[in-house]
Amino acid sequence: MPKGTIGVTTNNIFPVIKKFLYSDHEIFLRELVSNAIDATQKLKTLQGAGEFKGSTEDLKVNIAVDKEAGTLTVSDSGIGMTAEEIDKYINQIAFSGAEEFLEKYKDNANAIIGHFGLGFYSAFMVAKKVEIRTLSWQEGAKAVHWSCDGSPEFEMEDCDKAERGTDIILTLDDDEKEFLETARIEGLLKKYCRFLPVPIIFGKEQEWKDGKYQDTDKDKVINDVEPLWSRMPADLKDEDYLKFYHAIEPMQDDPLFWIHLNVDYPFTLTGILYFPKIKNNLDIRKDRIQLYCNQVYVTDSVEGVVPDWLMLLQGVIDSPDIPLNVSRSYLQSDRAVKKISTYITKKVAARLEEIAKNQPEEFEKKWNDIKIFIEYGMLSDEKFCDSGLKFALLENTDGKYFKIEDYRKLIEGEQKDKDGNLICLYATDKEGQYAYIKAATDKGYDVLLMNGELDVPFVSMLEQKLDKENSGASREQNRASSSSAEAQPTEAVGNMRFVRVDSDVLDNLIRKEGENKPQFTMEQQELAQTLFKSQIPPVEKAEFMVTFAAMSPEDQPVVITQSEYMRRMKDMARFQPGMSFYGEMPDMYSLVLNTKHPLIQKVVEQAEQSLAAELKPVDEEITATQNVVKAIRDLDKDNKGVPEDKKQELENNQKQLEELRHKKEGIITAYGAGESRVHQLIDIALLSNRMLKGEGLERFLKRSVGLLK
Ligand code: ADP
Repeated sequence: MPKGTIGVTTNNIFPVIKKFLYSDHEIFLRELVSNAIDATQKLKTLQGAGEFKGSTEDLKVNIAVDKEAGTLTVSDSGIGMTAEEIDKYINQIAFSGAEEFLEKYKDNANAIIGHFGLGFYSAFMVAKKVEIRTLSWQEGAKAVHWSCDGSPEFEMEDCDKAERGTDIILTLDDDEKEFLETARIEGLLKKYCRFLPVPIIFGKEQEWKDGKYQDTDKDKVINDVEPLWSRMPADLKDEDYLKFYHAIEPMQDDPLFWIHLNVDYPFTLTGILYFPKIKNNLDIRKDRIQLYCNQVYVTDSVEGVVPDWLMLLQGVIDSPDIPLNVSRSYLQSDRAVKKISTYITKKVAARLEEIAKNQPEEFEKKWNDIKIFIEYGMLSDEKFCDSGLKFALLENTDGKYFKIEDYRKLIEGEQKDKDGNLICLYATDKEGQYAYIKAATDKGYDVLLMNGELDVPFVSMLEQKLDKENSGASREQNRASSSSAEAQPTEAVGNMRFVRVDSDVLDNLIRKEGENKPQFTMEQQELAQTLFKSQIPPVEKAEFMVTFAAMSPEDQPVVITQSEYMRRMKDMARFQPGMSFYGEMPDMYSLVLNTKHPLIQKVVEQAEQSLAAELKPVDEEITATQNVVKAIRDLDKDNKGVPEDKKQELENNQKQLEELRHKKEGIITAYGAGESRVHQLIDIALLSNRMLKGEGLERFLKRSVGLLK
C-alpha cells in the first residue's frame, strides 16, 4: 500500500485549518459540492471538445449521510481522477508562507480557502478522516482509494469502483456530528447550493402513506438548476419574476419593480434586483442581495460590489468576475468591481427611466414606495442623480404627480418672483398646514407635498443641482437663498427655490413687483409689536418676533411662520451630526400681523387711542432724552470719543432712556393684558399651528366661551 506525505511546508496543516476556520465550518459542504459540480462541468467541456464520447445527460451530485457509520458522502458522476491526478491535485498543495497568511486572514475563511485552493481540504474542518474513491473518465482508468486521517500522511491504493466519478467520504469528528442531521444538511444545501447548475440529490421525496411520511423512489432534488437570472429576459413573464422573488424572499409583499441584469462584456454579470415594498423603516435591511459565482452562493454581503444606496434592493447578482477571495477593502478599490458597480447603477437608472416613460401610471402609483430608494440614490450618487432628474416625480397636495421639468413649466406662469426665481411651495403636513396650503391654492399657486423621510436633504440637493445646471451659481448662494427674509441677492435667474408654505406670508414667499408695503406708521408698528409680543404665552422651545405684512383683508389676521432657512438648518442637523448646534437652538417663529385685516387695524387703533393720554408724557420724555443723547453724541464729530466731562451725562441719559422705554412697555403690556382680542388672535394663530397646548389651550377655551356671552 503506497504511503506518502502531503506536500505542505507547514508541518501539520490540519490543526491550523481547524483552528482558524472554526467559525465557518459549515462551508466545507459548499466546497465539496462545488468541486463535484466542477467535475461534472469539466466532463461537459470534454464532450464539447470531442474528447469525451459518452453521455452527459444524467450528470448529478448526490449527498448522503450515514448516521451509524458517522459519515457524510458527496458523490458525483464527473470526470473522476487517476492516481496521478490525485497526486498532483490533492497531495501537492502549494503552501508557502502559510502561517503568516493564515494569521492575517484568520477571520476570512473564504480568503484562506481561495488563496490555497484549499477547497477540498476544508473537509478536515469537520472530519477526522477523509476518503476519496474515484474512477476517471479516461479509458482504461483504474479506480483509486485515497485516505487521510488528518495527519500529513495519506494512503492510496487501487479499489473497485464501477461507475465514473468521485465519492468524497467524510468520517465526522465527534464534535461535528451536527453534520449528520438531515435537517442541518438540507439547510446548508438550500443556503449554498440552491441554484447550482447540476441536480443535487439529497435523499428521496416523501409522501404521506399509512399514517406517516415515507420515502418514495423519487430522488429529492435540492436545487433549481436553471435559476431565473440565468435565463433570457425575453423568455420571462412577470409571473416568473414574482414567483422567483417570493422563493427568495418568502415573507415579503410583491416587489414594486425589478431589473434583470444581463451583460457579458466587458465583464460577465447576470442577476435580478427587486425594489421591495417597504412597509416601515424596520424593513430597511442591507443584506438582501445575494452574490453568486456561476450559480454558487458566495455571500449576502455585497458591500463594494453594489453601490451603497442600492443595497436596499433585494435579489441576486451572479458574476465570475468578482474576486471573491479578497478583503472587502480590496474589493472596493478593485477596478473591475468598480465597473460592475457603475454598470449596475446605470442599468437601474435606465430601467427606472424606461418604466417612468412607458408605464407612467404604474410609476406614479408606486412612486411613494420607491421614492425613498430614488431619493437616497440621487443624494448619494452624482451620476444616478443626473438620470434621476429625468424621472423623479414631485407630488402636489392634490395628489398629482409631475416630472421636475413638467413642474417647472406648470408654475412658470404664476410662481416666478420679481427676480425671476421659480418658487416651489411645499407642505410637509397636509392637515397641519392646511390653512397655508389653502391660502396658496386660493391664490392660484401650486403646493407640493414633501413629507418623505429624505425630502429635507432632497429639496436642498434639488436646488443645488438645478442651479448648477441653469447658471453655475455656487452652492453657498443657494444655501442662503431660501427664505425671503434672509434672501440673498443672487445673479442666478430662473433657479428653482423650495420654500415651505408656512415659512412666510404668501406675498413674501413669492415677491412680485409693486408689492404692498405694510400700512402702519412706525409708531403704530412699535405699539403693535409690544402689544402682541407681550401677550404671547410661553411655548416650549419656541421664540417669537412680531412682524407685519399687508395681506388681503380676507386672509387670516395673524399668521405664524417659520423661516425656511432656519427650519432647514435645524432639519439638516438631524441628518448631519456636526450640525447639532442648530438642533439645540430654540425654534424662531414670526407672528405676522396682517395690516390689512380690519380686526388688526381696529385693535391697534383702539390701543393707540386708549393709551394716548397715558403714553403722551412718556413719549415726550423719551423724545427729550433722545435729543439729549443725540446732542452729546454729536460732540463726537471727529470720532475722538465723547468728551470726558460729558461721559457721565451720556450714561445717565441712556439709562434713563432705557427706563422710559421699559415704562412704556409696561403701560402697553398692562393694556394688552386686558385686551382679550389680542389674546384671542394670538391663540388662534398658535392653534392653527398646533402650538397651543395645556394651560394655554385651557385659557383659550374659557375665553372663547366668555366671548359668546
Ligand atoms: P480547487 O477546487 O480550488 O482547485 P481543491 O482543493 O478543492 O481546489 O481541489 C483541488 C483539485 O482536485 C481540483 O482542482 C480538481 O482537479 C481535483 N478535485 C477535487 N475534487 C474533485 C472531484 N470531486 N472530482 C474530480 N476532481 C476533483
